[in-house]
Amino acid sequence: MPASLDTIKLRRRLAIELLALVTLVTTTIAALYDAGRAREYAEQTARVDAELQAQALQGALDRFRGLPEMWSKEPSLISALQGQDAAELSQRGLQLTYLSGAWATGFFNPDGELLAWADRSSNTPILTRLPTSIHEAVQQQRLGRLWVDQSPRPLYGFASGVSDLGSIVVFVDLSAIQEQWGLLNHPVLVVDSANKVLLSNEAGWLSRGLQSLPLERGWVSVERRLPALDWRLLSVHQVDLARLWVVVALGLASGIVIWGILSRFFRRQMTEHQDARLQQATALRLERLVKSRTRDLERAQESQIQTAKLAAIGQMSTTLTHEYNQPIATIQTYAENAQRFLQRGQVDAVGDNLEQILKQAERMGLLSKTLLTFARRPGAELSALSWQHHLDEAVVLLRTRFESQGVKLIRPTLSDEVLIWAGPVRLTQVWVNLLSNALDALRDTNDPQIVIDFESGQDEVKVWVCDNGPGIASALIGQLFEPFVTTKPAGSGLGLGLPLARDLMRQFGGDLTVEPADQGARFCLCFQRPPVHSSSPATPVERNTL
Ligand code: ADP
Repeated sequence: MPASLDTIKLRRRLAIELLALVTLVTTTIAALYDAGRAREYAEQTARVDAELQAQALQGALDRFRGLPEMWSKEPSLISALQGQDAAELSQRGLQLTYLSGAWATGFFNPDGELLAWADRSSNTPILTRLPTSIHEAVQQQRLGRLWVDQSPRPLYGFASGVSDLGSIVVFVDLSAIQEQWGLLNHPVLVVDSANKVLLSNEAGWLSRGLQSLPLERGWVSVERRLPALDWRLLSVHQVDLARLWVVVALGLASGIVIWGILSRFFRRQMTEHQDARLQQATALRLERLVKSRTRDLERAQESQIQTAKLAAIGQMSTTLTHEYNQPIATIQTYAENAQRFLQRGQVDAVGDNLEQILKQAERMGLLSKTLLTFARRPGAELSALSWQHHLDEAVVLLRTRFESQGVKLIRPTLSDEVLIWAGPVRLTQVWVNLLSNALDALRDTNDPQIVIDFESGQDEVKVWVCDNGPGIASALIGQLFEPFVTTKPAGSGLGLGLPLARDLMRQFGGDLTVEPADQGARFCLCFQRPPVHSSSPATPVERNTL
């Protein structure tokens, strides 16, 4: 049974709600998963980058670490320090600075005060005195390391003592490293143990505290320790959420596409449903119309039958008058005879005459009864009937015509009644129509005959009505069963006999056809046998023979 409109609407609502839920859940799961992956990727990239940058920084410094110690063994420098010869030290220092690739070299006396300074730019010292911790380190013959805070450029120094003559400090410029970082598209920074930014490719971050940096959510930072320097290098990467938005957009887009498909599907279902209802309504209307038309047709047919019957009776009226007048005259004669024999006292002869009177009265009674039955409006019911009995009824009605025309009726002698499926009044009418036509056709025939043939099959019973008249005109054969086709003069034929007879036969589930014959006309009546459960004949069998 097709779903109702309300059910389709409910299904559509549920499907769309379910789709929205599934889209939301899957998109969220995919987005969370992708966000996790993106964060992992950013962390991994930051880790690799921090390692690389740390190694680069370390390498850049390591190149200079051993220089002060190496130079402390240089005899020219030792003697210049011994003599506190600032000019010599500056000159030598400048040479060594350029040769080594360092940015500046400073020479300090045993008290840690600056003796001489040489650098690549203005030769303006950035340090006039060694910080205490460095001074102590060089006095203890350890490598001193220092970060120059108050310098316009990022300088890192390595210090080494020259026995007790003083110390040498080599300064390395880390600007090049910072410039390299400037090419990166993410922040890199170096902080000291107090979390102060010493180096960075973000100019605004320099000298600021790590906590104060604008590291937003969605950024990950990975740090790498630089143990000898007591610094930490941080590589900061942004989590790439572009893919996440792609995932969300894809999720929503597929949701919208599926929603579109579902909407189309349900719209089609609703249209089909409405079409089906429309068709149903139309079919119902048509059915009602057909029923009402069929009723009208049945009524029209019924009155047509009745008209044709009355016409037949009208046509028979002359012969019927004769049919009645003849026995009345006979009865009168026999009655007068009986009266005369009674006066003479011939009682036996009176009996014979009375018997003849009784026979004539019986004949008249039978005729009236048959006429009345025939004139009745036919019912619509069908029952098991004897075809012979109804042939007899028709013969009773047409008896005078048979006799006056001298037509011989030859019919099979059957020991039992053969039952067929028909309506009683209508069946008599079929016989009357066929026999009347045959009688009409035999009017000018010598030795006129009507022959009834019969054949009983498993499901059907066939009865043929043949005559030896002139036969049916070949021009008429194609339209024989059409209404108002007649060759008879006006007033004697309506052209309704055969079409009605065929119609009635079809109402019985059988048919009436005309068959080719060597001589005369040959009509075949095909009857259905009564259904297995049908009752026995509705009409008592009465035999009438000519
Ligand atoms: P009607 O008898 O009023 O003319 P029918 O429909 O009964 O109308 O018959 C139509 C025509 O068929 C008749 O006019 C007649 O020409 C032809 N017909 C019918 N039966 C026979 C028959 N047995 N022999 C010859 N012609 C016939």
